[in-house]
Amino acid sequence: MVKSRVLIAGATGFIGQFVAKASLDSGRPTYVLVRPGAAASPSKAEVLKSLHDKGAIILQGLVSDRENMEKLLKVHEIDIVISALGGENVLDQLGLIEAIKAVGTIKRFLPSEFGHDVARADPVEPGLHMYKEKREIRRFVEEYGIPYTYICCNSIASWPYYDNKHPADALPPLDHFKIYGDGTVKAYFVAGTDIGKFTMKTVDDARTLNKSVHFRPPSNFYNMNELASLWEKKIGRTLPRVTVTENDLLAIAADNILPDSIVASFTHDIFIKGCQFNFSINSPEDVDVGTLYPGESFRTLDECFNDFALKLKDSNKDAGSHGNATPNHVVESLALSASCV
Ligand code: NDP
Repeated sequence: MVKSRVLIAGATGFIGQFVAKASLDSGRPTYVLVRPGAAASPSKAEVLKSLHDKGAIILQGLVSDRENMEKLLKVHEIDIVISALGGENVLDQLGLIEAIKAVGTIKRFLPSEFGHDVARADPVEPGLHMYKEKREIRRFVEEYGIPYTYICCNSIASWPYYDNKHPADALPPLDHFKIYGDGTVKAYFVAGTDIGKFTMKTVDDARTLNKSVHFRPPSNFYNMNELASLWEKKIGRTLPRVTVTENDLLAIAADNILPDSIVASFTHDIFIKGCQFNFSINSPEDVDVGTLYPGESFRTLDECFNDFALKLKDSNKDAGSHGNATPNHVVESLALSASCV
């Protein structure tokens, strides 16, 4: 069977990297759109090199440049377009959508979603503003009759810092936990690699055509208290817990300092209001990724926290080799959990 040709915009970003790697792993011809000058940043150049080494074809352009996008889609005979643009650039996708409409041969478009179901979740501002823009993108896609899939993958597996939009880049806390509200409201946590892997499964699956695909792995449904206990097991010691109240989160959101206030508004929606599970997904427009691919397992949160523990062990080793290791009880207990990775 001829594999679909995939174009990914935003592949140097936090979520886009996982999707691009998974596309390459799936054996599909993978084109990566980068903004001119992206390679000037050493970290982005490194990401691009690793994607290129795995076989990605790098194209230059802006998704907002409709004419160029139309040309690229045609020349490279792209079948599937995936956008992983950041929250600040959501409306840039309008140029891309116009190009997709003009070309008329794109079999599936995945706009930049990769979080909550924006039609249902209702965070306070400033998060709401981003959701309104994502809803606007959905409206154009549907009005233009573009075949789509919306990926609603919930939270990335990590400690959910209220002030970090890429929390998986940081280790869970080592001094104290900040617990939102009473710490009992649950959320779904999905490994970045699984966001990529399952996204790529949906792209030419007829069952996901014009659907929202929800990621709700039962094994990764945790509240803050459980998450804190899980991390304590990995590091072999307990940490103090500090409560961040609903009002604290609302005040940080109201400060409107970007991007922290946006993250705080989502944190409030998730861990106070329960926005990831307070609706059922049995309408004809919804599909559950676990039901679609029952033979495929998700990495567990336990495994993901083992990865963080290993990173911590490595950073302690590095610090030790530079003569400034801080004594802690972490390393010994990690040796046990490392075998789970
Ligand atoms: P990032 O900010 O990390 O990356 C954005 C990417 O888009 C970069 O590669 C950037 O290029 C590229 N880009 C931006 N504007 C343009 C443009 N006009 N033309 C071409 N490329 C462009 O994004 P995130 O990974 O944080 O966000 C992606 C999506 O995932 C968003 O919808 C966000 O809401 C969601 N998200 C979900 C999370 C979760 O836990 N579920 C966590 C974080 C985000 P350049 O390299 O040049 O800057």
